[in-house]
Amino acid sequence: MLAMSAAQLGLSTHIFSSEPSPIAGQVANRTTRADDTDTAALHAFADSVDVITFESENYPAGLLDTLELHCEVLPPRTALSTSQDRLTEKQFLSGLGLRTAPFANVETEADLGAAMARIGTPSILKTRSFGYDGKGQVRLSRTDEAAQAWASLGAAPCILEGVVDFRCELSVIAARSRAGEIVCFDPGENLHRDGILRTTTVPAPHVSGALCEKAKDLACRILEALDYVGVMGIEMFIDEGDEVLINEIAPRVHNSGHWTQDGCMIDQFEQHIRAIVGYPLGGGVRHSDVVMTNLIGDEVSRAHDLLDEPDVSLYLYGKADIRPGRKMGHFNRITGPAPTVRR
Ligand code: AMP
Repeated sequence: MLAMSAAQLGLSTHIFSSEPSPIAGQVANRTTRADDTDTAALHAFADSVDVITFESENYPAGLLDTLELHCEVLPPRTALSTSQDRLTEKQFLSGLGLRTAPFANVETEADLGAAMARIGTPSILKTRSFGYDGKGQVRLSRTDEAAQAWASLGAAPCILEGVVDFRCELSVIAARSRAGEIVCFDPGENLHRDGILRTTTVPAPHVSGALCEKAKDLACRILEALDYVGVMGIEMFIDEGDEVLINEIAPRVHNSGHWTQDGCMIDQFEQHIRAIVGYPLGGGVRHSDVVMTNLIGDEVSRAHDLLDEPDVSLYLYGKADIRPGRKMGHFNRITGPAPTVRR
């Protein structure tokens, strides 16, 4: 989708991927398929482009060292390294004075015992790195579950988080330009099932306009602090007292921002390309109310039925294998015009 937005702006794209058949290669000008550790391929790739961006936060620092010898990599690596490690991320957010779930570093089974004594149950043990869509996480409801949870995550470095009794989940998709201008899209309300995003609804049905503005302000503080350039997804919890807690930040276009494809003139993908290339940002104005629904696993086999619905647009990712829990596509349903379009 980034490659398609780049093409719309008259730009060419070169995809580097270690996947056997990179999906983005279907819509890009050029593709290099090589391992992340193939230094010669990385040098040749980085030499061929003007700016590099990424769509996942799990790249090793060494890869960036190689790429940055040749050209700019945006968003900046501080944002990448901060979000790669749940401990660093939580420390960064707390350091900014933002609220998060209570957390503790867990490097040994003994640490886990001490963390559970401090944070209590229910709590969630999460691997510090490489977790997504609820993977690398175990919920703990009793202290005697600790040993098994620790073993099930492979004794990897973890954090223990207290379970937040949230009223709803919200995310803000925000963009910052090279000049430091920040534009936030309207916050979306997210529903997860089994740790996987199911739907995003905009406008957020259970969140007041004032609280949405507060969520956007918090997002701005995060982007400023990281001297960020590009689009970022910021996931938040809203508790019963309407306090906003930051769950996590993703230094990339985000699944909960897919609604912008049909709700806004300039969507998150074009916004990201504009930001990293140095073009002016779009205004972030929403013209329609939207519900975005992910197509997970074999739900995709019924996706074509959606083509009969006049208010739905369908996006399929071209992934060859259908697997349970795998995101195969999504659709946006327009639920009405946005009540006031401010320009
Ligand atoms: P994560 O991968 O950390 O974003 O977690 C995926 C989903 O699990 C979140 O969107 C929440 O629905 C739930 N979750 C994660 N951490 C917590 C927490 N500390 N308290 C309550 N729910 C959580």
